Amino acid sequence: MENNLPEVLAEGLRWFDDWFALEDIAFGVTAIGEPRYHYRNWNYLIEGKDSALLFDTGPGLRDIALVVASLTKKPLIVVPSHLHFDHVGNLHKFSSIAMADLPLLRALDQNGVIQENADLFLGDWENLKWPHFSVSRWLAIGSKIDLGGRTLEVLHTPGHSPDSVTLYLKPDNILLVADFIYPGALYAQVPGSNLADYLTSAEALLAHCPMFCRLFGAHGADPAPQGQRAPEMKVADVVDLQRALTRLKKEGGQPENTVINDRVSLLASKAAFAPWQSS
Ligand SMILES: [Zn+2]
Repeated sequence: MENNLPEVLAEGLRWFDDWFALEDIAFGVTAIGEPRYHYRNWNYLIEGKDSALLFDTGPGLRDIALVVASLTKKPLIVVPSHLHFDHVGNLHKFSSIAMADLPLLRALDQNGVIQENADLFLGDWENLKWPHFSVSRWLAIGSKIDLGGRTLEVLHTPGHSPDSVTLYLKPDNILLVADFIYPGALYAQVPGSNLADYLTSAEALLAHCPMFCRLFGAHGADPAPQGQRAPEMKVADVVDLQRALTRLKKEGGQPENTVINDRVSLLASKAAFAPWQSS
């Protein structure tokens, strides 16, 4: 599902081809965008001295492996932020895949092959097929991935989905938060969304990261008057989200759409509110 608009890139970004866009967001950290896909996904390549890590592979409508191969020759490990269809496309084409060591993900492993869970994948939305793949490394929550001179901490940040993780590049003060927060409407109206978890994750991120952290989400802005670029957010946006969720919990209403600030809103289903109603 491509959108037909000729997307323009912000200053300083470059096209890899007619689909993938590249932005250097820090030394050795490249955002790989798909601004012509209607969800405007952004994936991230992080390089250390010894190896590299790709966080998310997009919807798989094009081959992101070609982009990665042009950027690095180092051994690559691929980590999906969560299993929604627009983050795991073509995952089966990569040989080294690591996933968060969460019971609900472990439960999908059958004889070494990760099986589809329709609620975690949602591939029916766009008629996309599950990429059966094997996990070569299970990442304990709180553990660090060492790429050689650069480490990434694995944080569990459920709310949007139960399996969502964030990667923290501490020395770079960068958080790769995927679908936790980005400019536009956050999705807490999908199966597995949980606002109690969303609030807990927001509080955990705020407690964990300094105020000057840069956060990068997985979906670009629409519209983007200055051109498409990697969706960078501020800790202040997480503060706004945390305050809005705290208010929603206190007030007890169940609005389908909540304004967080001038960049972010939150869509939520009745099911996402349910944990608060039952507590
Ligand atoms: Zn998602």
